[in-house]
Amino acid sequence: MWQQKWVLGNWKMNGRQYANQALLTELSQSANENPHVYSGIAVPAVYTAQALACAAGSALAIGVQDVSRFADDGAFTGEISAAMFADIGVAFALIGHSERRQYFQEDNAVLVQKLRHCQAAQLLPVLCVGETLDQREAGQAEAVVAAQLALLADLSWQHVAIAYEPVWAIGTGKIPTTAQIAQMHGFIYRQILSLCGEDVKIRVLYGGSVNATNAAEILAVDHVDGALVGGASLHADSFAAIIQAACAPLPKS
Ligand code: PEP
Repeated sequence: MWQQKWVLGNWKMNGRQYANQALLTELSQSANENPHVYSGIAVPAVYTAQALACAAGSALAIGVQDVSRFADDGAFTGEISAAMFADIGVAFALIGHSERRQYFQEDNAVLVQKLRHCQAAQLLPVLCVGETLDQREAGQAEAVVAAQLALLADLSWQHVAIAYEPVWAIGTGKIPTTAQIAQMHGFIYRQILSLCGEDVKIRVLYGGSVNATNAAEILAVDHVDGALVGGASLHADSFAAIIQAACAPLPKS
């Protein structure tokens, strides 16, 4: 899987039991039809059991959108730990999505705890990073992303999965140029190698307004190992088309 393209969906706070069933059935089918792509969906926590049951036996991985910053069972009302998600068979967790950074003030101090708990529970964390439009326009995009990645130095890693999601591209229909994506993904690779050592296995996904139409072009960019897909993962046809786009032969580098 660390050689494959990844297509992960993020349903955010969307879904209802009845509709989920049909959508997950179609997404599982697309995952099965494209076994060379690692495909998964991060569902709202309340629907993880339903999603796991529906995707059972298929190639679709089920993930969650966050984990608690607390590791151990105890008096943490409303929280769900990484160990609990791993216990029921969840495969991966998004960590530090920009909406969590924005609405829940998640910073590196909190995120490093979440990453640590995922590692301990053997739940694959996908760390989300990205700059705001103001930061990009001020020429700070790389510095902001470097600061967000700095917490990797506090843990020991054999595998690192990052989603680069410029905040200004999420849900807006605005996409960086392919040159901007290539530059940032190359930069993220270099940062990871210097923080984690040359032997680390890396996947860097691009996220932000990926859809059925633009996926092929984005996925062909150097150092783009896959996509993190929000809105388009709520539609079986779009998500299937993005998985298909990820099957295209890798460009020569
Ligand atoms: C996201 O929220 O992770 C995301 C990429 O959203 P969208 O694809 O809708 O821009």
